[in-house]
Amino acid sequence: MNVPAPDFQKYMTLTDCPYCHTTPAVEIAKNPRVVRCINCGLYRLQPRMNKEGQIAYLKQTNDTLDDLTERGNPLDVHLFDLEEVRELKRHFPGTSANGKALDVGTGEGRFVAALRHNGAFEATGLEPLPKVAELGKNAGLDIHVGRFESDGMPQALEGQVFDVVCLREVICYMADLRESFDLLRCVLRPGGGLYIKCHVPTSICYWKNKDYLLRYGLTVTNMPTLAAMTRILAGEGYQILKSGYYPFNVLRSLGVPGAYSFFGGIIGYRLLSPVVHFMGKADRMFILARRL
Ligand SMILES: [Zn+2]
Repeated sequence: MNVPAPDFQKYMTLTDCPYCHTTPAVEIAKNPRVVRCINCGLYRLQPRMNKEGQIAYLKQTNDTLDDLTERGNPLDVHLFDLEEVRELKRHFPGTSANGKALDVGTGEGRFVAALRHNGAFEATGLEPLPKVAELGKNAGLDIHVGRFESDGMPQALEGQVFDVVCLREVICYMADLRESFDLLRCVLRPGGGLYIKCHVPTSICYWKNKDYLLRYGLTVTNMPTLAAMTRILAGEGYQILKSGYYPFNVLRSLGVPGAYSFFGGIIGYRLLSPVVHFMGKADRMFILARRL
């Protein structure tokens, strides 16, 4: 998120919760101002960016993308991604044979490639940045340009229904979460699996540094905690099959020098991560839920 902030300040016009659309909230941080909705518990920037701003931001990002070679080959799947796919197969058993999965905000499609690995799923990706989507398409992946919004879905996906929908690191940027859940009802079949993975505002990262824009960036609309998202999903008619927090390198989140070294990894990941989880300050949550 290295866009100069002043260009986008004019789009910071919304003060309501992107899910409840009400305004009563408790202040969490002053600068930038972050509040927690008293109805649903989602954190949000106040004021937050409107949809017009998000679209302008995406356009600027796409227009200024030059060298994409550093993104590497999307077909080189990561071991962590394959482990996530194994979890999806384990918890969404009804989708084992040729299950159709949609990865929202897929980037160049690395997770689409992981979903397809060894024929686990028939996978499709949705990506808002055309230049990034092109990388995946060129690698032979089924990727479409669009936004996960009722007026942003590509024609090719219209009327398509999926067995699994993956929202990895994207739910925080949905312009209108109320609308997102309505759209989810159209694209995820009843009994299908929903996978949410995202960074949480209760992370130890913000205990140290109260600047919530540090990692979310200016386009963020909501910052879900595990408790808030669990309640929202229950209200939307989902059964939580499994949820929790992923292990992480605590030293890296705190910006400690040496976090990336061998010993930094062992201390941060193996020793400190369980302690921080216990303290309720883990960094990234996951939810596997079934649409009832
Ligand atoms: Zn709310």
